[in-house]
Amino acid sequence: MGRSEVSSPALLAIGIDLGATKIASVLVTASGEVLEARHCPTLPQRGPAAVLDDIAAEIHYLIERAQAHRGMLLGVGIGSPGQVNPVEGSVRNAVNLGWHEVFLVREVQTRLVTPLPIWIEKDTNAAALGEYYWGAAQGCEDFVFLGIGSGLGGGIIAHGDLVRGADGNAAEVGHIALDPVHGRMCACGLRGCVETVVSGPGLVAVVRRLLTERAYPTRLSAEGELDTHVVVQAIMAGDPLALAALEEVAAAFTTLVAFIVGLLNPARIVIGGGLGLAIFDHLRARLQRDLPRRVLLASHQNLRMVPSQLENPALGAACLVWQATRRAEMKGGDQ
Ligand SMILES: [Zn+2]
Repeated sequence: MGRSEVSSPALLAIGIDLGATKIASVLVTASGEVLEARHCPTLPQRGPAAVLDDIAAEIHYLIERAQAHRGMLLGVGIGSPGQVNPVEGSVRNAVNLGWHEVFLVREVQTRLVTPLPIWIEKDTNAAALGEYYWGAAQGCEDFVFLGIGSGLGGGIIAHGDLVRGADGNAAEVGHIALDPVHGRMCACGLRGCVETVVSGPGLVAVVRRLLTERAYPTRLSAEGELDTHVVVQAIMAGDPLALAALEEVAAAFTTLVAFIVGLLNPARIVIGGGLGLAIFDHLRARLQRDLPRRVLLASHQNLRMVPSQLENPALGAACLVWQATRRAEMKGGDQ
């Protein structure tokens, strides 16, 4: 840089992760430096309008902070649950929010005093981008993110870009039915989805079934507080029934990953989500043991399964802004 040049203002992005319990937001630089990080409760029972008001209020606050940092704010990225159409900016069937259909981008934009571009993606797509830019998949052009928590979601990065599918619904890995006849009913309306086994509620449901079958000795009881945390503690303590339930979860997980690997030949599988990280070692051991029997060696010989390194989901949402900026630059370069 020449001596006469004045340093240009830092480029900034706002990221918002809309979750069922909290709305997390960040103001970040292009290198991933977090200037501000906030969160507020979602309280979706108030209805969509109140939640949208809160999202707009968070953005307004972060716009002010961007000005205070003398940065140049490029836009807002939002990660949302449900079926997200990034082209029309809509969210449908977000069960945990109680949203049937909300045109999220339009609704937030009408609430902003200062107009700003807004990009929206399914939360797990945003998480995948976050891992790519600043997490466990930096420098990796082909990988799949799997978030295992209260549900099971995925995000696919191929050639360094998100795979969205025709309607933005690619990577709906949680709602592939492994057992559409005998499986448990899923919140999506199908039966036997992977998510009915590979998720916190899925693990607990397997434990409940094994308890009624009385097939294993255990200290767990159907009467007490039986939730994901309790079951994970029992797994760590070596409880035979909890370990048997974990085996079922790991088996379904391995089946899903085998399909993913056979289909996409990713270099990495990045595991996120509370349950995914808690049982990561077990899932990886099971995968290493079983994958050679399920897919060609050529598809997985260089595969690595790694834990997520993104601490704040709003960081992934902010990456939507950098990704859109990069795309626009590439388009400009084509001309
Ligand atoms: Zn389902």
